[in-house]
Amino acid sequence: MNIILFGPPGAGKGTQAKLLQNEYNIPHLSTGDIFRSAIKNKTPLGVKVKSILDAGELVPDETVVDLVAAELSREKYQDGYILDGFPRTVAQAEAFDKFLDENDDSLDAFISLSVPEEELIKRILSRGEGRSDDTEEKIKTRLEVYRKETKPVMDYYKKQDKVQEIDGLGSIDEILERIKSALN
Ligand code: ADP
Repeated sequence: MNIILFGPPGAGKGTQAKLLQNEYNIPHLSTGDIFRSAIKNKTPLGVKVKSILDAGELVPDETVVDLVAAELSREKYQDGYILDGFPRTVAQAEAFDKFLDENDDSLDAFISLSVPEEELIKRILSRGEGRSDDTEEKIKTRLEVYRKETKPVMDYYKKQDKVQEIDGLGSIDEILERIKSALN
């Protein structure tokens, strides 16, 4: 099963992706986690993307697409995966469709978590993970980037009739249950 977990920053994608990973026994791939780990380990990728993440902007499409394609070609993803943070632009979605096509594969579900903006800001400010992009100013930038660049990705998948919108307000368990019933 190949799943995209979609939504604005702070919607709870990472939290739910980890729970779904255990529930369905399919690995979770978070582009944000990969970038943060590369930055922490000062790898060439990390050096390249650090200032971009710090600013709350998007890493160039080509870099992300190459990274995801290489990652998804690994053995552990062969029985399916949960994508979190990708695709984040329409160009990435198109490239991902091409990747699926070339691999005779397809997308099974596009789950979009909806959460009102005031709640997103509150959640990010209170999660206290110490991320350099979790300041009020950077959150505003990330939400703006989401509205402009990322939200159109949902319209792209709506045209394919793949989108399932889930209410992202409630307890972690409640939201997990909603996602599970959407997937079943
Ligand atoms: P959140 O959804 O909470 O903002 P993520 O961990 O998904 O956090 O992403 C953190 C940052 O990593 C983004 O602000 C962006 O700079 C970069 N990033 C992650 N995924 C992508 C992507 N698919 N395309 C471009 N940039 C990305």
